[in-house]
Amino acid sequence: MARLSKAELLQHVEDAFRDGGWNVLYLSRKGEHPGRYRICRDDHAFTIRVYIWNITHGGGRQRSASEYRIQITGLGQDWFEPEIGGKTLILGWWPNDEVFAGFDYRRHKKKLGGSPSFQVGLAALQSALANRFAIHRKNTSELAIAFRPDFLGAYAENLEALHDTGQTLREENLLARMALEPSGIAEHEIREEIAEPRRWAVSQTRRALRALDFSERVLNAYKHRCAVCGIQLQLLDGAHILPVAEPGSTDETSNGIALCALHHRAYDRSLITFDPDYRIYVNDGRIEGLRKAGLDGKLQGFRSQLREVIHIPAEKNHRPKQQFIERANELRGWHI
Ligand SMILES: [Zn+2]
Repeated sequence: MARLSKAELLQHVEDAFRDGGWNVLYLSRKGEHPGRYRICRDDHAFTIRVYIWNITHGGGRQRSASEYRIQITGLGQDWFEPEIGGKTLILGWWPNDEVFAGFDYRRHKKKLGGSPSFQVGLAALQSALANRFAIHRKNTSELAIAFRPDFLGAYAENLEALHDTGQTLREENLLARMALEPSGIAEHEIREEIAEPRRWAVSQTRRALRALDFSERVLNAYKHRCAVCGIQLQLLDGAHILPVAEPGSTDETSNGIALCALHHRAYDRSLITFDPDYRIYVNDGRIEGLRKAGLDGKLQGFRSQLREVIHIPAEKNHRPKQQFIERANELRGWHI
């Protein structure tokens, strides 16, 4: 497989953050290595410095066939420069399955020896493709973490805690189980198994994994189109019909709907909705209020984008369930 240039590798990093819903602001010239960025979403923001290399086979006859690695070359010095007040990411990119591997910067703070390389096992790379992330215990007790691009935001946010979590076998086991089935881990297990300093981050990681899993299923079911207007352009959210915090809300695909950013907001604010026959409604009471306040600009354009009925998934089990639709409409004050 052809090796990618630094600019191409960093492009994968930028795309991964953007696909995960993050803003990527350049603090270094595009393509310059290491790349420096300001990453923001909602009220979260952090600065990162990204070192990245191609992941290749270990090579040589004495190496195991399952040993892959990044080889640290071209630094221009023999140490990694840390991102002061931010996060330093050391990443590998495996083009074969399009997954990243992350290594713990804190363990490589000192001057590097001649021709250093960091290892990650083939099993972890392949398992990350199936399960979004996987851990690889290295002999040195360092944990390498392999993950799919959409997990990069959660990985960077919880960087230190995730790498530290492998320090005990109990924690490592919990993390491995969480990768296989995030919704199978209860909050109390995290409290019992994970040491206090890392508990919050592990809990956040579980939430992020569940959200990614839900969103991926919903967007695939709707073929990455807004159910209300049909737009694609990667402007979509996998939205919950019955909001997450409500009793009875679940992460089933049938409690989800793919909505573009505009229609997601309109749905959450009760400007539009749909009934169990999937007919779309506009909230005339609210429109009247907005009209009186002089805030109904472009209403005709808004109305003309709406389908009569939402576009539903081909797969029956994935279509919005009546109970979720009715309860959500009740909670949002609809009488239809
Ligand atoms: Zn839309």
